[in-house]
Amino acid sequence: MRFFLFFFSIVFSISVCAQQINVAKLKAHVNFLSNKKLKGRLTGSQQELTAANYIAKNLKSFGLIPKGNISSYYYSYKFKQARFAGDTVGGKLVSGINVVAYLDNHCDSTIIISAHYDHLGLTTDQTSYYPGANDNASGVAALIELARHFSLNKRKEKFNILFICFSGHEQDFVGSKSFSEKPTIDFSFVKFHLNLDKLGSLDNARNNLFFEGLDKISVAENVLNEVGFKKNDLPISTSDASAFKNYSFPTVLISTGNNGENNPLKDEVKKLNFEGEKKVMIFITKLIEKQEEVSCCTCQKNRE
Ligand SMILES: [Zn+2]
Repeated sequence: MRFFLFFFSIVFSISVCAQQINVAKLKAHVNFLSNKKLKGRLTGSQQELTAANYIAKNLKSFGLIPKGNISSYYYSYKFKQARFAGDTVGGKLVSGINVVAYLDNHCDSTIIISAHYDHLGLTTDQTSYYPGANDNASGVAALIELARHFSLNKRKEKFNILFICFSGHEQDFVGSKSFSEKPTIDFSFVKFHLNLDKLGSLDNARNNLFFEGLDKISVAENVLNEVGFKKNDLPISTSDASAFKNYSFPTVLISTGNNGENNPLKDEVKKLNFEGEKKVMIFITKLIEKQEEVSCCTCQKNRE
């Protein structure tokens, strides 16, 4: 018996360690998405599809359930592509793709975690591309690794979790708007929604984390203190979170802000703080655990 307990504790500690957040994996995702081959991930481009395939392949490898609207993990929508910055009318009609996957823990409440993966594409003269490492390859990397964490850890969360990577952010948020108008899950069971945008620029000295709507989650303030972050309010602005404002569940935008780099051509992987990003992810995992303790849900016993 003692041997079995010993054996069990070893196996358990290995599996827990294995699911710790891995900075090298975060960096690999940002490297892939902000690479020049992806030409700035413009919504409606071939490179958007390459990025979508990469994200879907990762989410599938964790055993998540597809929740797109056409096939598998893809959620397709049509929009008029902007012909220039600030174009409110739009040009040709093209398709954009959100990537949507679901962790079914057989509970009566669901949490949504989202991040946009598209970016600005090429410069007007087509000679350079916008890498979008912080904005928002960093948020997508966090989403993928949170999906790994929640899918493969041995702890069963008392929430289902829906993971969405939006495109269309730089096209007047058409990806998030489309999904909010025709969701693929029943929104009446959603507890809250966390939208991740720019997680790679934490200032270690200041430990500032920026939010919109955090006050709607009562446990958040305590968890912030526990992890050692200072809360800052983001000015109310339009974001992917805005598309959900008419629903009754809280939507919270989480960001480390701009990395002091105002030129989007220089938003490169080498400038990101991945240890800082890991800390933000620990905040998110603790927030979900704490929420379970105070106000939760009913789950069937076995997670398949
Ligand atoms: Zn962004």
